[in-house]
Amino acid sequence: MRIGHGYDVHRLTEGRKLILGGVDIPFERGLDGHSDADVLVHALMDALLGAAGERDIGALFPDTDPRYEGISSMRLLQEVMRLLREKNLRVGNADVTVLAQRPKLKDYIPQMRENLARVMDVPADRVNVKATTEEGLGFTGAGEGIACHAVCLLEE
Ligand code: MG
Repeated sequence: MRIGHGYDVHRLTEGRKLILGGVDIPFERGLDGHSDADVLVHALMDALLGAAGERDIGALFPDTDPRYEGISSMRLLQEVMRLLREKNLRVGNADVTVLAQRPKLKDYIPQMRENLARVMDVPADRVNVKATTEEGLGFTGAGEGIACHAVCLLEE
């Protein structure tokens, strides 16, 4: 078994969609970034790559590369899964915590899990997604950005 950890932050800004776990969430602002800025999928991919000993998404999908401009992070997750399969690794489970003051994410979590589980080729109960506020503290509390932590277990 191999364990991995990922962490990511994106800034909230006007004029962008809010995409988390491949779900388009209605909100007055969205996350800024080179891709669709899906901070949840970014943290998850870094956990998977970490467990696989394959550096990180910045190395794999550089934000200077025009091919990745505006790309769906779910597409990038497909690429990460392809890499894992080449190394004979499969996902045991993953656990993800999103830190966001707003919006409330509870209603969107089942769809996120379904999206992630489909691409990761596991049942949905092997991809857990949680959301919490930070009680108004720090940059997530001020609504300046959204952060995400992820851990995963890979099996050889
Ligand atoms: Mg990112």
